Amino acid sequence: MRCLLLSLSLTLLSCSTLSHSRSDKFLSQFTVKEIAPQTYVVTDLSYHNSNVMVAVMPDQTVLIASSPFETQGADALLQWIRAELKPRKVIAINTHFHADGTGGNEAYKAHGVEIWASDLTRKLQQERGESQKIKEAAGFESQPELKKRLERRQIVIADHEFRIQDGKTFEFGGEKVEVIYPGPAHSSDNVAVHLPQRKVLFGGCMIRPVNTLGYVGDADVKSWADSVSRLKALAPRVVIAGHETVGGQELIDNTVETARQAVSR
Ligand SMILES: [Zn+2]
Repeated sequence: MRCLLLSLSLTLLSCSTLSHSRSDKFLSQFTVKEIAPQTYVVTDLSYHNSNVMVAVMPDQTVLIASSPFETQGADALLQWIRAELKPRKVIAINTHFHADGTGGNEAYKAHGVEIWASDLTRKLQQERGESQKIKEAAGFESQPELKKRLERRQIVIADHEFRIQDGKTFEFGGEKVEVIYPGPAHSSDNVAVHLPQRKVLFGGCMIRPVNTLGYVGDADVKSWADSVSRLKALAPRVVIAGHETVGGQELIDNTVETARQAVSR
């Protein structure tokens, strides 16, 4: 696991004033870790240490799984992607309708990113995007600047859709990417993004590295363990949780155990 911070700092030293300030802003909010070849976890330190997966595919398409919470952060992420990864094209997958799944769509759209979401995520965002945004902003009462950024965000719905029950398979230069719906857990529409050739699974908020389920306002606690168990068959080497942690299959086991305990309580 190689931390990119050092190489990023070195790049900064040789950059122009404009790109220096751009990257600097990015670095003060985000950390970047390479967790597999050409596969990065970008963590948004300002908003709940939320993880986004960024993968460079063999045809130079850059794939983003999930999203920073709001436009300014997502804009910084895209500027970093353009400067450091030199994409031919960028595509983003909304992993569920909450801000950490869709909050960057306004910036994604402005940057010409192809945005994909399930039919259910699009519907939930359409119906509940605004009220969800207010709820999420209320959690940042003590940090008015961060709160304002959440409130300013325009709700933008993905411009490409797949049926949630079918999932979606992409291919980029001969490498597959699978979007998988294992069933309801953290939310009714949560999907995982799987890179089978790299054995990397972005599980997002349905994967819990600690012994609590986190925000359960939209969760299906009863189904959670069964849904996440289905991901075991993928046998990933690296599992990325929605917040903070990157690990292995033990994160799936821990989630199943935590969800079972929550039901039996
Ligand atoms: Zn969520």
